[in-house]
Parts: sequence; structure tokens; C-alpha cells
Amino acid sequence: MKTWVDRLRQEQTLPPEGYKALLVCRDADTLAYLHRQAREVSQAHFGPKIYIRGLIEISNCCRNNCCYCGIRKGNAQIERYRLSRETILDCCRQGYELGFRTFVMQGGEDPAQSSDWIEETVAAIRKQFPDCAITLSLGEKSKEEYQRFFHTGANRYLLRHETYNPTHYGQLHPAEMSQHTRIQCLQWLQEIGYQTGTGIMVGSPGQTTEHLVEDIAFIERFRPQMIGIGPFIPHRDTPFATSTAGSMEQTLILLSIFRLMLPNALIPSTTALATLAADGRERGILAGANVVMPNLSPREERQKYTLYNNKASLGAEAAEGLAILKKQMQAIGYEISTERGDFGN
Ligand code: SAM
Repeated sequence: MKTWVDRLRQEQTLPPEGYKALLVCRDADTLAYLHRQAREVSQAHFGPKIYIRGLIEISNCCRNNCCYCGIRKGNAQIERYRLSRETILDCCRQGYELGFRTFVMQGGEDPAQSSDWIEETVAAIRKQFPDCAITLSLGEKSKEEYQRFFHTGANRYLLRHETYNPTHYGQLHPAEMSQHTRIQCLQWLQEIGYQTGTGIMVGSPGQTTEHLVEDIAFIERFRPQMIGIGPFIPHRDTPFATSTAGSMEQTLILLSIFRLMLPNALIPSTTALATLAADGRERGILAGANVVMPNLSPREERQKYTLYNNKASLGAEAAEGLAILKKQMQAIGYEISTERGDFGN
């Protein structure tokens, strides 16, 4: 089994049976070896540095009805909010003072936050924080809209493909959404020149090992600059309320595979991992991740951005808890970097 790991490290690719063997592997020695190799590759490219991104959850209103997501349109139990431009700029200001040089605006596909509004917000951040990277994670838009945001000053875009398999995509999403549209959006983002991030939820309902091999093959072809991988965690007010959460082990295996496949990719250790286990954040880093995204959203709204049950948003998850995060990283031999941390730098 370790020969698959060595081959992936050397050649940055494997035949499907190699990926499959790693995905189903539960041998502790082999997994420790896989994570060590991924860690070494991450350290060879980034040293002990972990980049921080300040996450601002700008709205929990969404026109979509994704079956897994707590902020889906059909969830009548949730208290909705959207941040004003002034509040977003305040979040950026607080983040800047703490040392953040990337702001990530993430939210539901909220029709009230029109393209004009997004464009003007990006322009305002760009003007006030010219040395910062602006990342958007606002879902599916037209190519023209993506272009407008880019030309106004956005640098990066995160849009997980969630699953590459069209049938599985259909099981996770309502009929009006399609895998084809999602992949088209990703292609546009890359053509426009964004540093583009994609990724999946691990252990989403109906996901098989074959699906994961398809996801790996897609990421290998697409070569995103950022890869977001987190376990699926059920939300009580969704059709998947009683589904089982994705596993920590399989999420870590995928993190390591992607690190070995794309050595200089920016890979966050996600909030979902930290929600699944108290030491999830650290375990992600030790499996090859090199980014963390503490929450800069106003405290009173944070609890309302409930994508899944018990989503972590305090302590090391919070921007104001940066000191805790620093200590956690130091304890495993890493340090927080306040550089912008662009791809390829
Ligand atoms: N609307 C934008 C989009 O769809 O890309 C950004 C917000 S969306 C809520 C961000 C990500 O949250 C999704 O890509 C999905 O992978 C993740 N997510 C949603 N529900 C989740 C769940 N129940 N468990 C784990 N991750 C979830």
C-alpha cells in the first residue's frame, strides 16, 4: 500500500485503482505514512507557515434549495440576515488590525445582494484595503457577473463542485440545479483569471468510493489553485437531517491525496473538520492543509449561518480568537503567517 503513496508523491498522479486503494485503506501505519508524506510536501513548499483568511458570512438568505444545507430556501426555521456594506467594511477593518490580508465574502445566493451591490462592495474593499486579497464565495453567477467582480478587484473565487458525478449531484440538489452548470461556472472563473477553488463534502448522502475517484480525476484535470474539503455534517432542518456525518479519516485521506497531487495548492483545514472533532483543525494541518479561515462575521450573526448542526464559530474558529489559534498551531510545529498567501508565491 505504501508504494501507492510513494508513487503519488513522485508522479503526482495515480491510476484509479491506486486512489481507490488509498480511499478504503484503514491501516493506521499506512495512513500515518500518507499524512507524513503530505505534510513533508506541504512544508517543502510553504515551510511551517499557515495562511489565514478572514471569513465574512455576508448573508444566510439563499434562492437555492440544496438538500444538505441549513441555509437552503426551504428552511423556514432559520432566522435570516444579510450584512450591510458598512458592516462588511467594519469586519474587514477589524480583520486588518488583527493581521488578516485576505477577506473571504461568503454567502447564500441572495437576490437582494445584486451584482451591482456586490461589485460596489468589492470596489469599496479594494479601495480601503489595497494590499489585501479579496475572495468571493457567492455561488453560481453568469460569466459577465464573474468578470465584473474580477475587474473591480476580486482576486479569488471559491465554488465547490460538491460531487462530479451528475447522478449523485442530482441526489444532493433540486432539479433546477445541475452539475453541468457548476462545472461551467468553474471553467469561466478559471478563464477570467481568478485563483479558483473547488472541492467536495466528504461522506455526503449517496457518495461512493467511485464518486470520490471521479472527484479526484476532475480536480487532477482542472488543477484548481485552492481545494476545499470538509466532511458532510447533517443539519436538523434539511432532508438529510438523519444522515450520518462524513468521516474524519476519509476527509484526512483526501486532504493528503490532494496535497501530494497538487503540491502548491492552497488547502484549508475547514471549520467542518473542527466541528467534527476538537482536534480536527490540527489534524487537517498534519494531513497537509496549509490554510485556516477564522470567522470575522459579527458575533450576533455568526450563530445564524448554520450550514450544519453545531457549526463551530467561537474560540480558534473566530478571528478574535487568533491567539488561541496561534497557540494551537505552535503546539504542532506551525506558525500563523500574515502574508497574503497568493497561489504560486
Ligand atoms: N452559496 C455559495 C456556494 O454554494 O458555493 C457559498 C455558501 S455554501 C453554504 C458553502 C459550502 O458549504 C458549500 O460549498 C458546501 O460544501 C458547504 N456545506 C453546506 N452544507 C453543508 C453541510 N451540511 N455539511 C458540510 N458542508 C456543508
